[in-house]
Amino acid sequence: MQRPPIGALPFSDWRLGIDRPLLIAGPCSAESEEQVLDTAHGIVRAVPEVKAFRAGVWKPRTRPGGFEGAGDAALPWLRRVKAETGLLTMTEVATPEHVDAALEAGVDLLWIGARTTPNPFSMQGIADALQGVDVPVFVKNPINPDLQLWIGALERLAAAGISRLAAIHRGFNWFERTPYRNSPMWDFPIRLKAALPQLELVCDPSHIAGHPDRLGEIAQQALDLNFSGLMIETHRDPAQARSDAQQQVTPSALATLLAGLIIRRAVPEHRHHDELEAYRDLIDQLDEEIAQKLGARMDIAERIGEFKQLHNVAILQPERWERILRRQLVLGQRLGLSSHFIEQVMNAIHAESIRRQTAVWEQAVPASGSRGSEPSGPGPTVH
Ligand code: PEP
Ligand code: MN
Repeated sequence: MQRPPIGALPFSDWRLGIDRPLLIAGPCSAESEEQVLDTAHGIVRAVPEVKAFRAGVWKPRTRPGGFEGAGDAALPWLRRVKAETGLLTMTEVATPEHVDAALEAGVDLLWIGARTTPNPFSMQGIADALQGVDVPVFVKNPINPDLQLWIGALERLAAAGISRLAAIHRGFNWFERTPYRNSPMWDFPIRLKAALPQLELVCDPSHIAGHPDRLGEIAQQALDLNFSGLMIETHRDPAQARSDAQQQVTPSALATLLAGLIIRRAVPEHRHHDELEAYRDLIDQLDEEIAQKLGARMDIAERIGEFKQLHNVAILQPERWERILRRQLVLGQRLGLSSHFIEQVMNAIHAESIRRQTAVWEQAVPASGSRGSEPSGPGPTVH
């Protein structure tokens, strides 16, 4: 029998009354019955549009010693949430035992965490446990930027017969410092959409931002990119949370945040025009990221200029420039970028770095010095 494409069922066909955008809110972890119920009631009071209540029952902690969730004891609390508020309930499963316990307790929606998605053995075990079970599953992106592992996890679940599948974009761990807890790297979810065009895609701005300050901006970007929903960590008392305390918001802050978002109209699938628009949105997003990176690079170039000026260090370092260019050419080749293009871009960046550093030096030089005169030679080299 030919299987339908992965993620072919839109939310509207999930038979759960889910509209776009699907709003999911709830604490990082279920900590106590009181905390879970208080938070859930607070959410429905503050934002009646929220459809699903999330709470981690089994928490994967990067290092041992942290709060690892209340475990099976928390499952009846979710049942009470559903009975008292009508919210759908949702939790993370990482093992076949979690799957069995969550299903037994009547949890409505499951999600696969970012530390589980990249492990094919774990994913296969979960898929086997879900064989023949008609429960919706959301798959978070793997913690590192690897699109194939994300797709692979979805494929294993689809092969087990899960038809109500969606993906959650929660950002990627990146070796460089970024302003985010997990870098959004928007091109990855977009490439996932390009590979699986019908798949519903939800954004988790909480784990991307790592802080309430940037939640609105990230959530809006996701909506602008035509994401189908948002998952936002919400706690009755974020400061007291036993996991991810620094990024959760109260139900009333959630209401304010959501009220500030512009919800774009749902875009019908398969219309060339809309597909083009989605690609254009992506280009705009990438251009913005390029501009941010260039700005950061120039700031650092200026700081190097100040340092050299202060310490009277020679500024012309052609071998450093050659090393940079050579490295970029190798990287460019791996990414399918021509050496001509890389050279042009890097030369432009280099020229601007020089201009910035020259400006720093000119400002620092007293009036009798070279102020106002053109720098001689090729100018300082700053990288
Ligand atoms: C979570 O949702 O609380 C969580 C642990 O997420 P992630 O797997 O994305 O880190
Ligand atoms: Mn969390």
